[in-house]
Amino acid sequence: MNTVAIVGAGIGGIAAARTLRRAGVEIEIFDKGRGLGGRVATRRDGLLQFDHGAQYFTVRDPGFDAAIAPLRAQGLVQVWNGPFRTLLNGSFGSDPCEHAVREVAVPRMSMLPRQLARDLVQDLVRGVVVQCRVRVERLQRGGDGWWLGGRDSTGQALVRGPFSAVLLAVPVAQAHQLLTQSCLFGLAAAAAFTLRDSLRPCLCAMIAFERVVPEAEGGLFVTDEALAFAAHDGGKPGRNGTPNYVLQATPEWSLQRLESDPESSARELVAAFERALAVPLPAMVHCKGHRWRYAVASGTCVPDAAVVDLEQGLALASDALAGGLVEGGFRSGVAAAEGLLRAVQ
Ligand SMILES: Cc1cc2nc3c(=O)[nH]c(=O)nc-3n(C[C@H](O)[C@H](O)[C@H](O)COP(=O)(O)OP(=O)(O)OC[C@H]3O[C@@H](n4cnc5c(N)ncnc54)[C@H](O)[C@@H]3O)c2cc1C
Repeated sequence: MNTVAIVGAGIGGIAAARTLRRAGVEIEIFDKGRGLGGRVATRRDGLLQFDHGAQYFTVRDPGFDAAIAPLRAQGLVQVWNGPFRTLLNGSFGSDPCEHAVREVAVPRMSMLPRQLARDLVQDLVRGVVVQCRVRVERLQRGGDGWWLGGRDSTGQALVRGPFSAVLLAVPVAQAHQLLTQSCLFGLAAAAAFTLRDSLRPCLCAMIAFERVVPEAEGGLFVTDEALAFAAHDGGKPGRNGTPNYVLQATPEWSLQRLESDPESSARELVAAFERALAVPLPAMVHCKGHRWRYAVASGTCVPDAAVVDLEQGLALASDALAGGLVEGGFRSGVAAAEGLLRAVQ
């Protein structure tokens, strides 16, 4: 195997890249975003920062644990003890998952993908190319291998290749779209088609008050038509206790308002927060909304955590194939890369 193209530089794409690099395979990574990380993201606005994607992660898989261990040792990943409680109409209940160990990257969640990719980025001159702000729009397989067609952020067309294999590490709905518009069929296309609706949307609000809301410390699992989770983002380990919060809507409510203005949804989420806490909120100094069209997977698992078509040289990794969440994304990326490597062993 000469060079593998990885589409998607979220946790899954990074996990795949690490695995392929360790086996000495050259890689080229493409992501339409401004940087690495995908849904493990932090929005910065002046002095404020908000982990507006994954709030925390949990670790069960030994491979993921081994990747996280050095970061824990350096204090770059720390346990977030919340506290975590349920909330219904002003009444608080105990942590619904009291044995869960919830970890966060320090000083913000977007450092997790960056730290996991650190060796890759240092490896740039030795067989790793990272192309951010490039949206891959077409995959084509010719006699000499795979060719990728896409567009950079200025709209400039771009063609890259040939590659011996392609590893897709994008949300399944986007993989389905890419494979369909490329007229590609086979194992990966079938899996992407089957699971295309498994990622549910999430509308978020990133808010800051004049002061901390004492009733809303840690993480709150809210029972409400609109609001599902509220996090005191500034209270996570390694932050400075600032009164900034992230509110996440329920999938159903998000779906109903998916095409409406995220800023007005954010204001509705703040109202739901106040309703759920049943206390008046302090004056708000910042309120921004964000729409995640594909947020959290409903938890499907395929036996191998990824789909690899060795005949085509095409692999599909996705959190949706491995139980969802950050850990699922990581496991799926490793599994897809290992599957491709089996072809050359
Ligand atoms: C609001 C929210 C809350 C969450 N909360 C948690 C939580 O608390 N705990 C937890 O464990 N998980 C949580 N998750 C889920 C977790 O973030 C994901 O499961 C995980 O990050 C998936 O990683 P991935 O690499 O599979 O996909 P992604 O992170 O989505 O990465 C895919 C990458 O592919 C790129 N891409 C897509 N299409 C193309 C294309 N055509 N060309 C180029 N690039 C492309 C995207 O830009 C993206 O960077 C949450 C997610 C969201 C959105």
